[in-house]
Amino acid sequence: MADLETMRHSTAHVMAAAVQRLFPGTQLGVGPAIENGFYYDLDVPRRLTPDDLAAIEAEMQRIVAERVPFEREELSLDDALRLFEGRGEQYKVELLRDLRERGTTRLDSREDVDVDPNATTASIYRTGDYVDLCLGPHVPDTGQIGPFKLTSIAGAYWRGDEKRPQLQRVYGTVWPTQEELDQYLWRVEEAKRRDHRRLGRELRLFFFDEVAPGQPFMLPKGMTIFRILETLSRQEHARRGYEEISTPSLVKSDLWVQSGHWGNYRRTCSTSEVEGETYGFKPMNCPEATLVYRSETRSYRDLPLRLAETTRLLRNERSGTLNGLLRVRQLTMDDAHIFCRPDQIQAEIAGVLEFGSAVYDLFGFSRRYYLSTRPEKAIGDAAVWEQAERALAEALDASGIAYELKPGEGAFYGPKIDVDIDDALGRSWQLATIQLDFNLPERFQLEYIGEDGQPHRPVMIHRAIFGTYERFLGILVEHYAGAFPLWLAPVQAMLIPVADRHVAYADEVAERLRAAGLRVEVDARGERMQAKIRDAQLQKIPYMLVVGDKEAEAGAVAVRERSGENRGPLPLDEFLRLAADRVAARE
Ligand SMILES: [Zn+2]
Ligand SMILES: [Zn+2]
Repeated sequence: MADLETMRHSTAHVMAAAVQRLFPGTQLGVGPAIENGFYYDLDVPRRLTPDDLAAIEAEMQRIVAERVPFEREELSLDDALRLFEGRGEQYKVELLRDLRERGTTRLDSREDVDVDPNATTASIYRTGDYVDLCLGPHVPDTGQIGPFKLTSIAGAYWRGDEKRPQLQRVYGTVWPTQEELDQYLWRVEEAKRRDHRRLGRELRLFFFDEVAPGQPFMLPKGMTIFRILETLSRQEHARRGYEEISTPSLVKSDLWVQSGHWGNYRRTCSTSEVEGETYGFKPMNCPEATLVYRSETRSYRDLPLRLAETTRLLRNERSGTLNGLLRVRQLTMDDAHIFCRPDQIQAEIAGVLEFGSAVYDLFGFSRRYYLSTRPEKAIGDAAVWEQAERALAEALDASGIAYELKPGEGAFYGPKIDVDIDDALGRSWQLATIQLDFNLPERFQLEYIGEDGQPHRPVMIHRAIFGTYERFLGILVEHYAGAFPLWLAPVQAMLIPVADRHVAYADEVAERLRAAGLRVEVDARGERMQAKIRDAQLQKIPYMLVVGDKEAEAGAVAVRERSGENRGPLPLDEFLRLAADRVAARE
């Protein structure tokens, strides 16, 4: 079996061939394999609609059934030019001219054009009447292509240049087996169903409005989850010896100049004039944490100093990059900075790793770790780098954590550990970074008095566990598909009175449950009971407590679970204990 990428690129040829059969005069752009599939940019005489995809698929099936061989030929550039000119393939001709005149078809490093940049000849692939300018490799014949599906059509400017013609990009996916294709299509549908922007509105957690792009309006239910996460975070920080600080939002630009962030962050930093001076709204907490460190004389005995901060940050991300809660302009990090002696690095990193694991386990996230080491352009002493990198590696080893090494991919100011998590759909999210920093302590002249009575430079560690609350909430919504576990659910139980005369008892029960710390609502609308149950299920509320005459008399509630399971009547006290135990266990 050919490798997946070869099969995917071969399917792109088959698709382009099918489009040329159905729409004579179609010219070829480029058509690479991509993650999960392939696309081809095509200049088709008329605009394709999603309805055309089925016809193209059917034509592709015919080509697959014909088992047409992929045949490679090597031509001189002149012969190749004549061939594609004769076929009216102006885009391929342009690529070949570039190759002949400039020795490359590349306009920039991102461009993925299917031609050898150093070639003096051109290789072409024929599949029946279809001819493509292509390096290959390909499967032996079209019968070797697995089950496929065309997924979408989009516009794509030729060579990414909006002044050039807009081609039609047809996307498809292809897999070795029908089962893998079905799995993939299910994951795509499931991801749409779980989209946090849609669920955020449906479950009344948050919404976005054009008046503030990239800044969520958090609704009471979204804020409830936010606060639960905050409480969890504060508890976990406190028990690990972190202290919480809060630093100003609007800071004179001098600070950003001194920290070196002004150059890199100037575009993303919101500025404001106050009495003729330029202030920046902080995009990060780091420089100000160094001022807190410097506010007292520190001795080696005071270290490590672990300073946590959860204040609001602003970053003017480009509007095109904003993506619901996953990329916002207004963010709240569960940020902390650890200041320590070089000999404490390993223990501190081990502590942060343990912290992360304890938190990620609560959500059932598996994770992957990456250690990035010294890049070519780095500041600081090579010996200190080596010591720090060893400390990071040893902390990972001692914690029993497997990791992948990314040599040379650290920041210029220090090595780092990245943590990716996998969600319920098996999608990977980059979540947290543990970043060592030799730079800021230098720039801000941080010191501690050592055992020798002399001043020494501390190491600074930047780290977050959730990353930002906003993004973490977005990930959680998709991970749970909105059906939050009991301890996180904004409404844990919905009281459903069978008739109006049961509302008073429902209110009484709600009051008792609230007094015990549960989040409860009463659905007192004049709707039928079945409709109320359905609505509560749509809102993904974990418990529905139905109360009628029998329950009111017995001091009970009839318990239904979100899954549809009917537990029947339970004495109120019993339900209370059950729910409280599950919340305490963070179920
Ligand atoms: Zn090709
Ligand atoms: Zn930082």
